[in-house]
Amino acid sequence: MAGPFSKILIANRGEIAVRIIRACREMGIASVAVHSEADAGAMHVRMADEAALIGPAPASESYLSIVKIIEAARLSGADAVHPGYGFLSENAAFAEAVREAGLVFIGPSPAAMRAMGDKAAARQAMGAAGVPIVPGYHGLPGTSPSDEELCEVAPRIGYPLLVKATAGGGGRGMRVVSESGALTEALAAARREAIHAFGDGTLFLERYIPRARHVEIQVLGDNHGNLVHLFERECSVQRRHQKIIEESPSPFLDDELRALMSRTAVKAARAARYTNAGTVEFIVDPVTRSFYFLEMNTRLQVEHPVTELVTGLDLVRWQIRVAAGEPLPFGQEDIRARGHAIECRLYAEDPSRGFLPAGGSLLRFVPPAGPGLRVDAGFAEGDSVGLHYDPLLAKIICLAEDRPAAIARMRQALRRMAVLGVVTNWEFLRRLVDEPDFEEGKVHTTWIEERLAGQEHEEGNPPREFLAAAALALHEGRDRLSGTGSPRASDGSAIGDVSASHHSTRDHFSPWAASDAFHSGRKG
Ligand code: ADP
Ligand code: ADP
Ligand code: MG
Repeated sequence: MAGPFSKILIANRGEIAVRIIRACREMGIASVAVHSEADAGAMHVRMADEAALIGPAPASESYLSIVKIIEAARLSGADAVHPGYGFLSENAAFAEAVREAGLVFIGPSPAAMRAMGDKAAARQAMGAAGVPIVPGYHGLPGTSPSDEELCEVAPRIGYPLLVKATAGGGGRGMRVVSESGALTEALAAARREAIHAFGDGTLFLERYIPRARHVEIQVLGDNHGNLVHLFERECSVQRRHQKIIEESPSPFLDDELRALMSRTAVKAARAARYTNAGTVEFIVDPVTRSFYFLEMNTRLQVEHPVTELVTGLDLVRWQIRVAAGEPLPFGQEDIRARGHAIECRLYAEDPSRGFLPAGGSLLRFVPPAGPGLRVDAGFAEGDSVGLHYDPLLAKIICLAEDRPAAIARMRQALRRMAVLGVVTNWEFLRRLVDEPDFEEGKVHTTWIEERLAGQEHEEGNPPREFLAAAALALHEGRDRLSGTGSPRASDGSAIGDVSASHHSTRDHFSPWAASDAFHSGRKG
């Protein structure tokens, strides 16, 4: 079957580029990857039908270069561009440039992106549309409130409060302030960070809601006025305001609150004349159960697979179809959520070193497999993982009939996988999903910081026999391990356990490194 487009350029890299290439293949659409010099051998480049080099490693000269990406799209003869998430995905000027080049931008209109892109402007617009916003202060539209102005209004908002950047994203440009004495310094720090990260130091204030829940609603609209929601995702398991584990449905919502939040999200999207896939993020007060608009992400979300698993809808496919002008053939009442889905983000980062991004060669990577499991990876065994970009390696997602079954499935999935050669948060994820609080759904956005305070720096302390197995396997070399016919490779748990050594093993080729790591791990 021929798709609505004949060729799509994917202006991204890593797992999301791979995810979009897969959708293109299924739809009979040719795919064009773009890549930096550092990504010449990357998985998304290998998988795409065509690839274009767009510049050197720094993102500012490659994945963030509008000029180079438009040029690559023109040269390749693509008729549409998918931006993925991060990079240029929420950049209205990019969406406009794509349109001016005579191509289709797979996302909302530049106007909708602008309306939601500036957090203060979005607060203003949502407040006017009757969507609850967090009590706070964002000054007059289009202005940048001075420190004096913000200090003056702060007592009316009350403490603790949150200093936020209007251009913020990825948890950056944000400071929690617990008392008035700390405000001036927090404003300066947030402004510095926002200018550095986003080139815009405009700040606003919000009341800080302690131990809040982050619950977001997926929406999807076509160009013909149809707009539906695809229920919620609970994203409260975060570290430094960045999501690590997401699930749907939220264990916190009841049907009434779910219906109200979903309706409110559709109202918010309608007010912005929103089309294509988007996410309305809410912060929920755990005590009053009041919810407030946080921001709208005008793109595909990292955690979109949990929604795909519970609704059975392929969001990337629908993004492409509605961008091509197709009307949604289903209404709100046709959309049902079934079962329970959980996603864990596997990052190339070192929990024992303050979660510093880690690079290296993926000597061994055996993703979990089995009924109800999905892995969206941007890397394969043998790939090298660099330090230039977001350290997300893969997302492990599961679906089961209910939440306890989904948790059991995720626990097993994390046990029965192997990552060797690159330090990851694998052990950390295992610990999180093993926590009784997680099992009981008693999580909030500072749960990790509060519950696991001080533990982060401890080494994993893997059992002695796992380390011995790892040392032996590494000593014997990769070849024996990767033979699919070998009894070892077919025994998932043995392989999974081998990866217990990766945490502190620096020299993965040395059989002694693992046992050294064991000793250093024990003193932690
Ligand atoms: P999600 O809710 O989809 O997880 P995040 O805020 O975590 O959204 O951002 C998704 C991805 O985009 C992350 O990889 C993050 O590092 C990146 N990102 C977010 N905002 C920006 C930005 N302003 N500039 C560059 N990258 C960003
Ligand atoms: P970003 O663009 O970086 O994703 P958000 O506004 O979506 O910024 O907020 C990211 C996270 O910061 C939220 O998921 C939540 O953990 C925390 N947060 C944001 N606003 C508040 C608030 N008013 N009170 C408590 N926590 C907040
Ligand atoms: Mg957000």
